[in-house]
Amino acid sequence: MNSNDTPELKASRASSEDFLHEYGHFIQGVWTGGDSGATIALKNPATGAALSRIAAGNAVDAKRAIDAAASAFPAWSQTPPARRQEILYEIVRRLKARLGHYAMMDTLNNGKPISEATHFDMPMAIEQFAIFSGAPWQLHGESVRAADAVGIIHREPLGVVVQIIPWNVPMIMLASKIAPALAAGNTVVMKPSEIVCLSVLEFMREMADLLPPGVLNIVTGYGPDLGEALVTDPRVRKVGFTGSRPTARRLMQYASVNIIPQTMELGGKSANIVCEDADLDAAAEGAAMSTVLNKGEVCLAGSRLFVHEKVKDAFLEKLQRILRGIRIGDPTLPDTQLGAQASQMQMDKITGYLELGPREGAKVLMGGQRAEVKGLENGLFIQPTIFVDVDNSMKIAQEEIFGPVVSVITWKTDDEVVRLANDSIYGLGGGVWTSDLSRAHRMACALETGTIWINRYYNFLGGMPIGGYKQSGFGREFAHEVLNHYTLTKSVVINLHPGPVGVFG
Ligand code: NAD
Repeated sequence: MNSNDTPELKASRASSEDFLHEYGHFIQGVWTGGDSGATIALKNPATGAALSRIAAGNAVDAKRAIDAAASAFPAWSQTPPARRQEILYEIVRRLKARLGHYAMMDTLNNGKPISEATHFDMPMAIEQFAIFSGAPWQLHGESVRAADAVGIIHREPLGVVVQIIPWNVPMIMLASKIAPALAAGNTVVMKPSEIVCLSVLEFMREMADLLPPGVLNIVTGYGPDLGEALVTDPRVRKVGFTGSRPTARRLMQYASVNIIPQTMELGGKSANIVCEDADLDAAAEGAAMSTVLNKGEVCLAGSRLFVHEKVKDAFLEKLQRILRGIRIGDPTLPDTQLGAQASQMQMDKITGYLELGPREGAKVLMGGQRAEVKGLENGLFIQPTIFVDVDNSMKIAQEEIFGPVVSVITWKTDDEVVRLANDSIYGLGGGVWTSDLSRAHRMACALETGTIWINRYYNFLGGMPIGGYKQSGFGREFAHEVLNHYTLTKSVVINLHPGPVGVFG
């Protein structure tokens, strides 16, 4: 996986001690201490060591950031497309030049393997800036022609938008949120996760000179200390959120105060369906990848694995063989394939489900335990785990575990598997493995989910929308469609026949 590591990439990783030991908020183009003076430690989950400290923001900090974004909006919204494009593309250039540095920041703080941060997270984050660097030219309105009037539909930015992101893929989240928002002429107050945000703050440190003061502001801290102040401020015109359902509910309540629009990218419990006519080697590889990529801390993970009963034994043997060979260990080493879970809280949540599975009647086919890594005894490692004898109604099949854990459910008929797959509050991702393309299409049409990968899981195509059905949220990201969420239309109608209409005689 590390075969593409060029000397430049290695060099930019080697300079990765180059981060600060404390960060403030970034407001109005400058770094500033928080109102309370309180700070939060960012940790390395592979070692337990503290990496840096961030400001624990509060409502005063939130207001200052919104002041900055509100004052920057009139000029930024009028910035010519060419200038906005130039800035977004310069971000692409700088991210590429120091790709190894950013990858290492996510590896150190999140625990994800450096090979993934380098070859998955960073290219996807960079692609977002590349896609939306062209968008400032595409925000055309429309015109409508009638016999006696011409209608013009203008597209305008919303104003100040608040964006709140989680800890699992910080660079992808940062990019997929701010690139379209800025391209469309909005100004942003972003709140990254208090658990993992080293890469986000490093991004701001490097890009600070590119953006006019106030256009992009970052406030850090615990969600409940900032959320209400950010979202209920009357100057805020939208909230874009990625995270959990409970937080989404809270934010929707806040958003109801001033009736502002929201986009919600939430969790998943996606169905990965293996048919009896599938290429079982490819399907087993895909299922293994879906289990261990980013330690299973992926909203789109195919964590409900539906295997046709005719191929169950053969398939599970292949899957186990792959998962037993996974190299667990120090995420900074290029050969590591499974790193550390991002936080103690996440670790506790996963081990809770590992204990719950057998109590619910499932059987642990492999894994099921904490993994010991020599030299990293304080690291938060979990063995890749397969649960079998799972019923779709069990909690391990219905709730998001967000770890390297897959729950296997067997099935007999297509109708049955579609019904089971749809029996979930979520609908974010999913996979179908079959050599019968008509069958694949039939299932794809019947599944209630935002993305379905046929015969290759995590087959992300740049520019395709990602987002949820049901309680996986609403709104789409990663595609031009997202510009609709960051613009408003205004209809202007010009009468072509001057003078009174004559309705009052
Ligand atoms: P979370 O909801 O706990 O936190 C997400 C963010 O919200 C953090 O920045 C947190 O500080 C903030 N927050 C918490 N309470 C808040 C409040 N009251 N007001 C304002 N902000 C608040 O979620 P998490 O544990 O960080 O992330 C994991 C979840 O994110 C999972 O459910 C995962 O599936 C989901 N996720 C979804 C996608 C997607 O695209 N659909 C992508 C990645 C992660």
